[in-house]
Amino acid sequence: MRRLEAGRLLVATHNAGKLAEMVQLLTPYGVTVVGAAEMALPEPEETGTTFVENARLKAHAAAGATGLPALADDSGIEIDALDGAPGVYTADWAETGSGRDFRMAMEKTHTLLLDSGAAEPWTARFCCTLVLAWPDGVDAVFAGVMPGRVVWPMRGMEGHGYDPIFQPDGHDVTFGEMDPKTKNGISHRADATRKFVAACLG
Ligand code: IMP
Repeated sequence: MRRLEAGRLLVATHNAGKLAEMVQLLTPYGVTVVGAAEMALPEPEETGTTFVENARLKAHAAAGATGLPALADDSGIEIDALDGAPGVYTADWAETGSGRDFRMAMEKTHTLLLDSGAAEPWTARFCCTLVLAWPDGVDAVFAGVMPGRVVWPMRGMEGHGYDPIFQPDGHDVTFGEMDPKTKNGISHRADATRKFVAACLG
């Protein structure tokens, strides 16, 4: 596995929260994190049908445009009773034409689960795939998972996205009820990030 030398790493996200998490994590390794907005990078269309395809798309576009190694992620929730949906379309289920509405997306998820007739527990997992791409086209993939179940009704105001209906295994609270520090220590994103750090920086 090619290692990442101290220097500049482009984190190919326009999400300020994700960027802040990466700065905190990578600064101790002498890595200077540069955000996509800072480099005025456009957001490429996510046309892939898997997390890894979409993360690759974003990472290679960013590395090619800047000449810097670039890290991109793609994430979502897979629900067994819905044959893995929404999966890569997790964010799309919240699109309204005038922004994202996650309450609507969670209600849709619940309705589909009821319609499926599947018995509880509604097992599911949050997935996060990180791709590190170098400007010469080489890349490395790191996958993180947090298994759990979909619960109803929604519980908790912390977090974002589908957090109020996801209860991670080993916990009796949802991600939405968990304090962010605890969630960020066990999440699918933390899992993938730990693998990236161990392989490329540790
Ligand atoms: P993307 O990775 O930016 O394409 O978006 C994935 C979507 O998955 C987000 O918009 C969220 O709706 C959802 N998602 C990913 N990780 C989490 C999480 O930790 N909690 C809740 N929702 C999440």
